[in-house]
Amino acid sequence: MRIDILTVLPELLESPFAASIMKRAQDKGLVEIYTHNIRDYSTNKHRNVDDYQYGGGAGMVMSIEPIAAAIEKLKSERTYDEIIYMSPDGELLEQPLCNTLSLKGNLMILCGHYKGVDERIREHYITKEISIGSYVLSGGELAAAIVVDSVVRLIPGVLNDETSALTDCFQDGLLSPPVYTRPPEFNGWKVPEILLSGDSAKIDQWREDQAIERTKLKRPDLLK
Ligand code: SAH
Repeated sequence: MRIDILTVLPELLESPFAASIMKRAQDKGLVEIYTHNIRDYSTNKHRNVDDYQYGGGAGMVMSIEPIAAAIEKLKSERTYDEIIYMSPDGELLEQPLCNTLSLKGNLMILCGHYKGVDERIREHYITKEISIGSYVLSGGELAAAIVVDSVVRLIPGVLNDETSALTDCFQDGLLSPPVYTRPPEFNGWKVPEILLSGDSAKIDQWREDQAIERTKLKRPDLLK
């Protein structure tokens, strides 16, 4: 998979992909992540990428020309499965969308700033708009990093134990059961006996029961 991210703040996207699973995925050649500074596509001598809103009102708008130039340049080099705009009014990022995106080859992600991008970018270039939740961030970079992380970890070979992504929350419509590690007792607080029993059938049953209980309690909406 290849992911190209368009941003005015590429430095915000350095550390999220420079450690742990995201770094390993790149080192293994399973994903290539590139950031592109939209300012590099500005023809303005001050490298401006924003302008006042037509109709007046507070807040600057990201101009169409540099973004269009950046998208056109990338599109001339390869075909993109999706050109995504991070936006609070987009489709809510949920596990099924992450699963779908993890099967794609080339993704482009546009990060907005200020009041957002000129609407014509959304009308003519964007194929998918994604929100990470019903709140407003100051820019799309952190949201884009969340999309990339949630998608890349699903690419086969990225996680060491591939089954582990399948047993995460939401994959089967349920929350995950509780997990424990050593020591078996701390401060008198014990690990559930069954997990120490070595009886894998019983353990599986216990985990399933716990997952259902937990989902009923914390996210009953998932059971509908
Ligand atoms: N005026 C816009 C908000 C702009 S926030 C509105 O009310 O809809 C600036 C940028 O941050 C957006 O262009 C978008 O790229 C990003 N952003 C903000 N909140 C986000 C969210 N919940 N999900 C995804 N991206 C978000």
